[in-house]
Amino acid sequence: KEDQARDKDKADRATSEQVLDQRTRMILLQMINRGVMSEIHGAISTGKEANVYGAVAYPDLNGAAVQRAVKVYKTAILIFKDRERYITGEHRFKAGAEKGNNRKMVKLWAEKEFRNLRRIHGAGIACPEPIQLKLHVLVMEFLGDRRGYAYPRLRDATIEAEGGEELWKRLYTQLLGIMRRMYQVCRLVHADLSEYNILYNKQQLYIIDVSQSVEHDHPRSLEFLRMDIKNTGDFFRRQGVDTLSDRTIFDFIIAPEGPTEEPALAEAIERLYAVRSAREDQGLTAAEVEVDNEVFRNQYIPQTLEQVYDIEKDAEQIGLGEGDKLVYRNLLADQVVMPKEGGEDQSSGDESDEGAPLDSDEDSS
Ligand code: ADP
Ligand code: MG
Repeated sequence: KEDQARDKDKADRATSEQVLDQRTRMILLQMINRGVMSEIHGAISTGKEANVYGAVAYPDLNGAAVQRAVKVYKTAILIFKDRERYITGEHRFKAGAEKGNNRKMVKLWAEKEFRNLRRIHGAGIACPEPIQLKLHVLVMEFLGDRRGYAYPRLRDATIEAEGGEELWKRLYTQLLGIMRRMYQVCRLVHADLSEYNILYNKQQLYIIDVSQSVEHDHPRSLEFLRMDIKNTGDFFRRQGVDTLSDRTIFDFIIAPEGPTEEPALAEAIERLYAVRSAREDQGLTAAEVEVDNEVFRNQYIPQTLEQVYDIEKDAEQIGLGEGDKLVYRNLLADQVVMPKEGGEDQSSGDESDEGAPLDSDEDSS
C-alpha cells in the first residue's frame, strides 16, 4: 500500500513537472499553423523555471531554414513566488501581480522577458531578438550555429584557446559597457547577471534570461545592480582579469553624463584604470581596494527622495544650526530661520539608522 501511494505521488509529481501540458501543446501547434515555426526539436536546456527548445522555421517556401529558440515557462511551480519581489514595485506590472495565481504569474514572467528583450535588442545590445509571445511560450532568435548548437554560456566558453588573458580583459570591458548601456539606454538592471546568463561567440557577449530584469527606478534596482556587479566581477577575477572596484563600476554605470556607445565606452573604462593607477601611485594598496569593495557591498543606497531627505531629522539639524551640512543646503533660502526646538542630538548625519528600504515587499517564505 505504501509503495502504491509513493508511486502515485511520483506520478502526480511527474505530471505537474511535465512542461508540455495540453495548453502548451495547443499554443505550440497554433504557432506551427501560423508559420512562426515548423518543427520543434529537443530541449537545449531544462531549468527550474523554464525549458528552452530548439526549433526551425521556413519563413518562405524557397528560403533556407531559420533556427529559433522557444522558451516555455513552467506553469506548475512554486518558485515564482520568490520572484514576486521583482515585479512588486514595477509600474509596468502594477495590475498583474496577483498572489496565488501561478498561471497568471508565469504569463507575466514571459511577458516581462519579451518586453525586456525587445528593449535590449532595440538598444543594439547583443541578445536574442524576441519574435513571438503567447501566454507562457516565448519564441526568440536562436543564438547558435547552423547545425543547431547553441552558443556556449560564458562559463563554458573556451576563451583561453582563442585569445587568453588579453581577450578576457576585452570581454570584461565589453560587459561593463553593456551594463552601462542597459542602464542608461534601456533603463533596466538585469538583476540576474552572471556567467550563466551570458552566451559567447566570436568575441561577442550575448545577454539572455531577462525575465527578472527591473526598471532603473524600481525600489531595489540599485541593490540588484550591485549584485550583478559583484557576480560578474567575481567571475572575471577568477579568470585572472584585473578588475575595477565594485564602487568604481557602480558609479560608471549610473553616472547620467558620459558615453553610451562604443568605442567611447571602452575608452571611458580605460580612463578609469588610468585614474586608479594614479591613485595607486599615491599608495592605495590592493587590500584597501578589497576593503572598499566590502564596505561598498554593505552600504545603504538611497533610492528615493524620501530615503534621502528625512524631513524631521533635517529640520532638527537646521534647528541645531547645522543646516549647512545638508546636501540640499543651496536650496534653503538664507532668510528662513528655522524655529529652534529642544531635543537630544541624534542628527549626526550618518546612515547608521537606515534600514534596508521596502523590505516588506520581500516574500519571506
Ligand atoms: P533559465 O531561466 O532556465 O536560466 P535561460 O534564459 O537562462 O533560462 O536559458 C537557459 C539556457 O538555454 C541558456 O543557458 C542557454 O544555454 C539556452 N538558451 C536560452 N536562450 C537561448 C537562445 N535564444 N539561443 C540559444 N540558446 C538559448
Ligand atoms: Mg538562466
